[in-house]
Amino acid sequence: MNPSRPPMRRLFGISLSLLAALAMGGCATNPVTKKTELTLVSEQQEIKLGSQQYLQNQQSAGGKFILDPQLAAYVNEVGQKLVKVSDRPNLPFEFVVINDSVPNAWALPGGKLAVNRGLLAELKSEAELAAVLSHEIVHAAARHGASSMERGILLSAGAAVISVLAADKKHADLIDFAAGGGATLLNFRFSRENELEADHYGIGYMVRAGYDPKAAVELQETFVRLSGSKSAGWLAGMFATHPPSQERVEANRGMAATLPANLYRGEDAYRRKIAFLIQSKPAYAAHDEGRKLLEKEPAQALAKAEQAIKLEPREAMFHALRGDALKKLGRVAEAEQDYSDAIKLNGEYYAHHLNRALARQRLGNAAGAQGDLERSNALLPTAAAHYVLGNLAQGAGNPAKAIEHYRLAAASESEVGKRAGSALVRLDLPRNPGNYIQVEPVADAAGNIGLRVTNRSPVALRNLRVVGAVPAAGFSREYALSGLKPGQAAVVSMGARLADFKVGLAQVRGQVRGAEAAE
Ligand SMILES: [Zn+2]
Repeated sequence: MNPSRPPMRRLFGISLSLLAALAMGGCATNPVTKKTELTLVSEQQEIKLGSQQYLQNQQSAGGKFILDPQLAAYVNEVGQKLVKVSDRPNLPFEFVVINDSVPNAWALPGGKLAVNRGLLAELKSEAELAAVLSHEIVHAAARHGASSMERGILLSAGAAVISVLAADKKHADLIDFAAGGGATLLNFRFSRENELEADHYGIGYMVRAGYDPKAAVELQETFVRLSGSKSAGWLAGMFATHPPSQERVEANRGMAATLPANLYRGEDAYRRKIAFLIQSKPAYAAHDEGRKLLEKEPAQALAKAEQAIKLEPREAMFHALRGDALKKLGRVAEAEQDYSDAIKLNGEYYAHHLNRALARQRLGNAAGAQGDLERSNALLPTAAAHYVLGNLAQGAGNPAKAIEHYRLAAASESEVGKRAGSALVRLDLPRNPGNYIQVEPVADAAGNIGLRVTNRSPVALRNLRVVGAVPAAGFSREYALSGLKPGQAAVVSMGARLADFKVGLAQVRGQVRGAEAAE
């Protein structure tokens, strides 16, 4: 999460376990730096937080790269080699490869790591891979994520909401809404100190595991050079979360100079292991170009998807792109078939289920859509899926269920979230107008009394009926207000003065009786 962003509008609530941890804090020695620091989150908490978010973060980052299981095994093997010589060999470290071309890597507290397909394709040796992984291992081992939490950058609060927002951002096109903003855990940016620390101790791990420390220096140089090129993919990935700098290059060079040189680099071994990534690069490049063209040039996006499928028919993501393009072109039945193909090839990625649900909904297959949405939400809860589930529940005459889904979707600040918020008001307003309309007695200097009525909902309201009463004087009357825009307030005169009732303002009561959503 980027600390400069405003706090999320609503959270499902900070987990009780985190609150309990905050209550029992104390001082401890950092397992990597050996410095004494305030420690509010126990190791058990770290592990729990990381595990809870690992699967959902994998989903929102693009899902696992499943076409090359040997590559995933290799990354894990190199990672575990480094874990063994790290300061916390007993943390349950895990390493996965994410199916995304953006060069990136990330670490969650407790040792849950991931590296993108796009970064692996850029590396030149096993020692460079070791440099990337050891850097991430230090972030987890030195509790960089956990201590950020302690500084108030909430990492655990509302994990579901974080994922929802992340998903909305990545797949804003899913229901043809404009891209919504949102904070995601993966946009989390480590501090300059954290980065230097991760480099410094990471190089130590590399050498202990037998890797040439110069690879870390060269990798940093490559990063600095690429960051100068301002390539969009790089800026959104590695550089956003782990900002490179000349300072880091110099620090790494200084560190490497004090360490044994000419250790293992593993250039040939690495090239063999990423042979499939290199061979399939044109297919993924076609897909990535098609994804960019989708919004404005769906016919060209379709051609790119077909090119990618021809090169690598086993990649589910390519079929999903063809589905997206066909859907944009109005060929929804064909799109549904492509999403089914994507699910057959990779049923463990939420977006394929969500996309098919939206196609099925447009084809009038509510039952099919329902099942897909539930599967999608089981993999990664999204505002989009909850919103459509709300619509389906409403269509099936189940407003209570619809309200439940709309409420969950409305927690997202995206366009979908706003639509869900409006739908929620429309459904809930007749029963609970007081949740959305505030009525407050007011008096002017002359003692004329009125009711200030405020629309606290995100939709325009009309035909508002409010009651002004002075119980001590046995007075009660209904007043009408024609309309209020979202957030707007207006004062309705009660046509009386405090002196008429011989009371103070505290004895005047105001209440909303009813209202309608305009449109
Ligand atoms: Zn970093």
